[in-house]
Amino acid sequence: MQRIKNLRIGEVAECAECPVLGLCGTGCRANAFRIHGDLRGKDDYACAQVVKFHGEMLPPLLDRFGFSMRTAEEDVYSAHE
Ligand code: SF4
Repeated sequence: MQRIKNLRIGEVAECAECPVLGLCGTGCRANAFRIHGDLRGKDDYACAQVVKFHGEMLPPLLDRFGFSMRTAEEDVYSAHE
C-alpha cells in the first residue's frame, strides 16, 4: 500500500509526454495493475475517457461559455480576457 501511496505520476512512462497529464493524472492505479500487471502502467479506461472528453466534449463546452483552452505543456484552461 505504501508503494502505491509513494508512486508519482511522472513514473508512468507512457503518460510522460501526454498534454493532458495534469487533467488525467494517469488514471487509476488499480485499473493499471489489472490491465498491465504493473502499477506504473497506463489506465487504458481512464485514457479513453479523458481523450474523448478533452478532444470531443470539452472544446464545445469551453466555447459555449467563453473560455479558451491552451495546449501548452501545463494544459491550463483560462478565461478570455
Ligand atoms: S490521457 Fe492517457 S496518456 Fe494522458 S495521462 Fe491520462 S492515461 Fe496517460
